Amino acid sequence: MSAIDTAKEIVRIGSAAGLSKDVIDLMEKKLVLLTDELTNLNRRIVQLEVENGQLRAQLHHSQKVGFQEFGGILWKRTAEGFEPNPYCKECTHHPVMCGEPPDFEPPLLWQCPHGHSAPFAGRP
Ligand SMILES: [Zn+2]
Repeated sequence: MSAIDTAKEIVRIGSAAGLSKDVIDLMEKKLVLLTDELTNLNRRIVQLEVENGQLRAQLHHSQKVGFQEFGGILWKRTAEGFEPNPYCKECTHHPVMCGEPPDFEPPLLWQCPHGHSAPFAGRP
């Protein structure tokens, strides 16, 4: 049910309850204020969603900048070199990849939780 339908329903309930026309008119004015406010809030939500999308794109870009590509996958720099596990280059949010088989050093391949894989090609 839309906000305007809800407002009409409230006025109808007021009429059915036997409230005077003055009270119902006042209720109608207050409900118009509420629906206007709701319209403004919906507009604000749309603006925030657009802003959120832009910020996510910026974050994605800055995360990508922090990576170094090596062997077809992404590696994150640390003070001493690189993190032990690489990140998936194909997934947009770049999840960490695990070595396969597990506990095998060096692994035969790197596996992303979404099914992407890359053969082990050394470390950067
Ligand atoms: Zn992936």
